[in-house]
Amino acid sequence: MRRAFIGLGSNIGDRCAHILLSITEMKKIPGVNFGRVSGLYNTESVGHVRQENFLNAVIEITISISPEKLLDELQKIEKRMGRTRGIKWGPRIIDLDILFVESVEMNGKNLVLPHKELAFRRFVLEPLYEIASDVVVNGAGQTVRQLLKKTPDKSNVELYMTSDAVLNKLNEV
Ligand code: ATP
Ligand code: CA
Ligand code: CA
Repeated sequence: MRRAFIGLGSNIGDRCAHILLSITEMKKIPGVNFGRVSGLYNTESVGHVRQENFLNAVIEITISISPEKLLDELQKIEKRMGRTRGIKWGPRIIDLDILFVESVEMNGKNLVLPHKELAFRRFVLEPLYEIASDVVVNGAGQTVRQLLKKTPDKSNVELYMTSDAVLNKLNEV
């Protein structure tokens, strides 16, 4: 079993419902066990495309399947939820990225671990910090706390819903 962290994002329609549904779907993946769930964060979109704010969150899981298989399962969920491939970094119903898998480094055609933008995205580092502040990000060789302190990204990231509220909502469905 390896510990892994997934970054979730949505900026179309009922963003909160999309995030919650994707968590419910990820719980069904064989070989995945759930750990901690961050709160939901309202974040300014970064990059050149002007678009609605995102809601972002990070979850901790342990996996007995391979990282490649995990990516495949995440992409199936994105597709089932109606994600279409549009402009790069454009609006999306749901985006599920593997941020890192403990003690795994890879540079494949379809999968790069740790995620190449991890250190440059406050909207990922803030929710990750909430649930994994002292975890060392392999590759970077630094803790999440250190990466957050050093990130050049100064964009606005605000807590929108606490982790406890997220867990309550997940139990309702
Ligand atoms: P970014 O990866 O910069 O956050 P994005 O999420 O908008 O951009 P997508 O269109 O969702 O990009 O994915 C493009 C490709 O990135 C996927 O088809 C996948 O093969 C590849 N990829 C590489 N590394 C990862 C990773 N760690 N997690 C998810 N996808 C990855
Ligand atoms: Ca992404
Ligand atoms: Ca993605």
